[in-house]
Amino acid sequence: MITLGLTGGIGSGKSTVARLLVERGAELIDADAIVRRLQEPGAPVFVRMVERFGEGIVADDGTLDRAAVAGIVFADEGALADLNKIVHPAVGEEIRSRLAALSETDSIVLLDIPLLAEGARDGRPRYPLSGTVVVDTPVEAQIARLVEHRGFDEADARARVANQASREDRLALADQVIDNGGALDELSSRIDEVWAWAHTLEPAALPTEEAS
Ligand code: ADP
Repeated sequence: MITLGLTGGIGSGKSTVARLLVERGAELIDADAIVRRLQEPGAPVFVRMVERFGEGIVADDGTLDRAAVAGIVFADEGALADLNKIVHPAVGEEIRSRLAALSETDSIVLLDIPLLAEGARDGRPRYPLSGTVVVDTPVEAQIARLVEHRGFDEADARARVANQASREDRLALADQVIDNGGALDELSSRIDEVWAWAHTLEPAALPTEEAS
């Protein structure tokens, strides 16, 4: 198993790059998707969140009201710490179990973990990575894509980008940089190069550490 960390700011094109690598045969471990699954109604993480934050975080249709959760933890560090204590270990456990299942294969596993860059900075445990790929996009292009394709208003898009790790922080982690400042159809040949490079990497050891 070769593991690739994939990081990039919101709207940088990280999901697009992930899709193109999956098309070439990569196995994707998508932390956001895991979180969404763990937060489905009735799932243990959902239940613990409702125990801690109350029925106010449940929408009328019974699903998690993410805006309500964001509103609670935005202004309350203790609540945020409690949320992280509920969510992070469960996500970590799921990621480690998926890695364990793939560890004896010759898969190239793509770890799409939004806080990869931030995690390196504050010392949270990381996963064993054969290499790290950073999707790099000028901030103005990120903002434009979030507004055009994702329905953000501009101020909101700027705030979200400003709240994340900077381009420089991410680039400092990169073994390979994918410049996604250009047109989408320019990406493909660069993805082919990165895919070929991935095959030259050393396999990663199976993680053994416990959930944080
Ligand atoms: P992320 O996962 O980094 O938030 P996405 O891959 O979802 O970003 O890309 C955000 C939006 O921008 C999507 O609608 C995607 O199709 C579009 N997009 C991605 N790369 C480009 C590009 N090079 N040029 C134009 N639009 C792009």
